[in-house]
Amino acid sequence: MARGDNSVLIVGSVALDSVETPTGKVERALGGAAVYSAVAASFFAAVRIVGVVGDDFPEEHLAFLISRGIDTSGLQVAKGKKTFHWQGAYLDDLNNAQTIKTELNVFENFKPELPSEYRLSKYVFLANIDPDLQLEVLDQIDSPQLVACDTMNFWIERKHPSLLNVLRKVDVAFMNDAEARLLTGQTNLNRAAHEIHKLGPNYVVIKKGEHGAVLYCDSDLCFMAAPYPLYEVVDPTGAGDTFAGGFMGYMAQAGVIDRDHLRRAVVYGSTLASFNVQDFSLNRLRTLTMNDINNRYEEFRRIVHFEPVE
Ligand code: AMP
Repeated sequence: MARGDNSVLIVGSVALDSVETPTGKVERALGGAAVYSAVAASFFAAVRIVGVVGDDFPEEHLAFLISRGIDTSGLQVAKGKKTFHWQGAYLDDLNNAQTIKTELNVFENFKPELPSEYRLSKYVFLANIDPDLQLEVLDQIDSPQLVACDTMNFWIERKHPSLLNVLRKVDVAFMNDAEARLLTGQTNLNRAAHEIHKLGPNYVVIKKGEHGAVLYCDSDLCFMAAPYPLYEVVDPTGAGDTFAGGFMGYMAQAGVIDRDHLRRAVVYGSTLASFNVQDFSLNRLRTLTMNDINNRYEEFRRIVHFEPVE
């Protein structure tokens, strides 16, 4: 595992997911936005996770996070309570999860208390969870250098004012195309990104599933990442989170925030996401190596390369 000087702090759901796709299904498998993004970021940087699980959360999942070098001292275990559980299906459209059930459980009364060394984190990713919790965590960090957030329709619909407060305070917003449209009411994605930029973030990343990702810097379109040409997607769950984790991990390792590094971060994010969807839960990430990641990064470069006209 490569270690930069800068740690990435991640808050978000830590979950047991029950997921059905055209290829098969899993019951109560390891998932959650914070878990996918932390494991993806751990390929590049030291990672600290903030969240809560119930005492039904299998010990082996905790051991896996620790085996990736992730600091879990900010992950609380609530005795006698149940872990967040999400049930979803992708039956007609692999780009669109249908939520069947969201059981917030331990997250309903979670009060994040950051260990003192966490407060010095320079890179912060507010992964998908209640925006009020995202704000409570951000307020406990001394002077972050790069703060990013993600969200989903569930919170856009239920916690709109709090989400606007989050967006006012972040540098980078990650959203998929449907979320960007839902939040802004704009069907045109360039306009939607422009509207999101006006809400606060300098950088907006719109993820378009099997159609790649677009980075806007100060509302100019500054980079388009091609999608990796996969011939089978087994389970899209966590694609957005692994994208964001790879992006933030790379930015922390680089330690420089400029357009060239942000473009590379988008490609690393796309690389991690393309691996993650090749198996259920985090199974593909368990065996992934930095060598696999760098080989695929080069393939991303090759497929978009073209020469100027003579
Ligand atoms: P993604 O596919 O990247 O959008 O994220 C999938 C993950 O989001 C799953 O592992 C779920 O546990 C988690 N998730 C689903 N609904 C919510 C929610 N309302 N708040 C936080 N996390 C959620």
